[in-house]
Amino acid sequence: MSAMPPAQPASNPFISSPTYLMACQQLRQVARETELDEGVAERLMLPKRSQIVSIPVRMEDGRTEVFVGYRVQHSLTSGASKGGLRYAKNVDLGEVAALAMWMSWKCGIMNLPFGGAKGGIAVDPAELRGGEKERLTRRFTDEIQNIIGPRVDVMAPDMGTDEQTMAWIYDTYSMKVGYACPEIVTGKPVELGGCVGRKEATGRGVVYCITEALNELRINPETATAVVQGFGNVGSVTSEELVKIGAKVIAIGDRYGAIRNDRGINVAKLLAYQSTNERKTVVGFPEAEAIPDAELFTTPCTVLVPAAMERVITGENANKLKCRVLAEGANGPTDPAADAILARSDIFLIPDVLCNAGGVTVSYFEWVQDLAQFMWDEEEVNSQLKKQMLRAFTRVREEAKKRKVTNRTAALSIGVQKVAREKAKRGLYP
Ligand code: GLU
Repeated sequence: MSAMPPAQPASNPFISSPTYLMACQQLRQVARETELDEGVAERLMLPKRSQIVSIPVRMEDGRTEVFVGYRVQHSLTSGASKGGLRYAKNVDLGEVAALAMWMSWKCGIMNLPFGGAKGGIAVDPAELRGGEKERLTRRFTDEIQNIIGPRVDVMAPDMGTDEQTMAWIYDTYSMKVGYACPEIVTGKPVELGGCVGRKEATGRGVVYCITEALNELRINPETATAVVQGFGNVGSVTSEELVKIGAKVIAIGDRYGAIRNDRGINVAKLLAYQSTNERKTVVGFPEAEAIPDAELFTTPCTVLVPAAMERVITGENANKLKCRVLAEGANGPTDPAADAILARSDIFLIPDVLCNAGGVTVSYFEWVQDLAQFMWDEEEVNSQLKKQMLRAFTRVREEAKKRKVTNRTAALSIGVQKVAREKAKRGLYP
């Protein structure tokens, strides 16, 4: 299997990123298996447009620091491009390009009228003080103003950003255009035109998928144990929802360390503990013991949920997993070497582009409500979300069974083919 992206390597600015190479490798494999038109496959390998900006910020101590930000729009074929904005220390252009490509497949699987995009600023948000995060966000919005818009590119929260970040983007954009434009971002506070249930949507969607998988495997959720890597928005809501279906969450980890309690971690108490300690970590929670990070993936459990970073399950540790279901809350947590190992195991994989698609699905609901200026209630949001997730899950499983391929290949094929079909039908301009 070739790990090479398209075009001449020298003219491909994304190539140094292992995450981008991983996304290309997946696309190549799907293109081959689905006999995708070569010209279309090559076009899908490179994002439509990428912008790199420098973002000078006045720091609290009076110094000026310059950060680097990216916005990559993989495809605008199906509509506006859509995807989160990530604040993380090591974000680079290639990683953002890979995440943008995955957003295209995710929107395709969920049948949303969006292409994929992603943004990032190389900054550790935990190190920002006072008004620094707001100034950084507003200046970034200003720098990319020329390539965003409610019909062009719509941002949303991702790692290191939240509702407040979206409120600043909304306000900055609105000040520029001269009127309130809530449909420029999703994942906003509800008071500003945000959608009820958006914050919980990704975690809820993850657990809808897990419930379906357990059902197919004839495992009663009340006998299930779970291990969750990551306790940010996705990991924490997933943990809460797992408890609601009767599962026992026995280990949780975050960037500072991991904890375990085989009797079941009290997730509500852990959330309260996390919100009151200074580093906002799960480490030190009195009702659990500390374990080494690596043990998270080797702890025997029914469901393992990586809900943090990409490329954490690799050729090195994939054969050590002791779970029955691997539910990818994060984007790209499993690399192709690990995929090959998992394909030969009996682990039921719920691939990222399906598993965590609840977030962008409710983002779509939010965008629709803002455009229509008519807001739904939470019951409607959740029932529509459930319907869409179950429909996508069933389609992926049917495709996997019909073609005797892995769930990842099935999901990616559905997403890639939808975009490819639209590209082919629209034709190549001029
Ligand atoms: N950042 C989320 C994701 O990776 C949500 C994107 C969105 O809602 O646009 O799917």
